[in-house]
Amino acid sequence: MTLVFVEIEGPDAPSGSGGVQLTSAEAVTFARTNTAILDGGSAADSSPLEVAVIGALTDEARDRLAHLGVDRIHHIDSPDVHAYSAAAWAQALVDVAPTHGTVMASGTPRGMELMAHVAARLGARMAANVVAVDEDGFLRQVLGGAAFERLKLTGALQVLTVAGHACDPEDTAPTEPEILTHSPEASADDLRTRVVRTEVEEADDTSGLTQAKVVVGAGRGVGSADGFAEVLELADHLGGALGVSRVVTSLGWRPHAEQVGQTGSRISPDVYIACGISGAIQHWAGVQGAKSIIAINTDEEATMVQRADYAIIGDLHEVVAAINEEITRRRR
Ligand SMILES: Cc1cc2nc3c(=O)[nH]c(=O)nc-3n(C[C@H](O)[C@H](O)[C@H](O)COP(=O)(O)OP(=O)(O)OC[C@H]3O[C@@H](n4cnc5c(N)ncnc54)[C@H](O)[C@@H]3O)c2cc1C
Repeated sequence: MTLVFVEIEGPDAPSGSGGVQLTSAEAVTFARTNTAILDGGSAADSSPLEVAVIGALTDEARDRLAHLGVDRIHHIDSPDVHAYSAAAWAQALVDVAPTHGTVMASGTPRGMELMAHVAARLGARMAANVVAVDEDGFLRQVLGGAAFERLKLTGALQVLTVAGHACDPEDTAPTEPEILTHSPEASADDLRTRVVRTEVEEADDTSGLTQAKVVVGAGRGVGSADGFAEVLELADHLGGALGVSRVVTSLGWRPHAEQVGQTGSRISPDVYIACGISGAIQHWAGVQGAKSIIAINTDEEATMVQRADYAIIGDLHEVVAAINEEITRRRR
């Protein structure tokens, strides 16, 4: 059996609250489309697809899970799990975990932390950032997405996290999920570390960036903190978001929430326009999921130019200003 931990959107989510997070919808799709292998059975076997939701289970989430093909929802809710606690939440998942098959989550910070705890408690082997699975085992991202590793897990039960955007969420014929409610009581030990207060800072909201269809990237090539006018205007014209390199955030030109890459957000827009960005491996790790990449750079040898689908060689201030001007002219 496969059990997927599903994260529910909080009140700060762009689309309102209570829905299934995009990356969880991806993980459920990954589980559904690979059920036979994850269950450890043959392609002919397919046991029910089960998910676990901790905290409030809204009608919206239930409906979404039905459209994602979920057969059973473990709804885990009690005062002890209202606040996030890795140990208490992991134990709650362990209590509903199968004895053989797979326990999994999407590779978000919370998914990663929880699955590590779950694997330790179950004595199971774990693979993080998985992007594909077949009879020969898992393919997973390593080195910040710069390389892939193949590995096989042994044991009746395995634990994994699915890398963000490893697959697109796919609806199927809606099911009528059975809902099993659980009210766990956590031990004092498990509650020693828990969230006691959450502060949401506007500047830390990266959801606009990670979900944007178009991202305009800006690197050191913009020149200074005052050099972002053209790229911001372009992002605005295209209804997109601004993403920046680490140099830009390290220099204090833009907030960290806008950073893209290994230590920033991973994005998968339809189009990524990298302006004045060299394409270092750590930056590439965050943008390689883009469907199409356009580089604007003065250096035709820059890695980003070499790897992009299209490149414009020139000063970004001139090139982007010209693009903005043309968009404005055509929209008049
Ligand atoms: C552990 C670790 C984690 C890291 N994590 C990240 C991360 O998450 N994200 C990230 O981005 N980096 C990360 N880095 C840093 C990374 O290695 C690079 O240093 C960084 O990405 C470079 O940023 P850049 O491309 O803006 O600057 P540069 O490498 O300096 O490149 C600037 C580019 O702009 C071009 N240029 C200059 N002037 C113009 C102009 N007027 N018009 C057009 N083009 C111009 C240049 O030709 C050059 O290609 C990390 C590094 C480490 C060690």
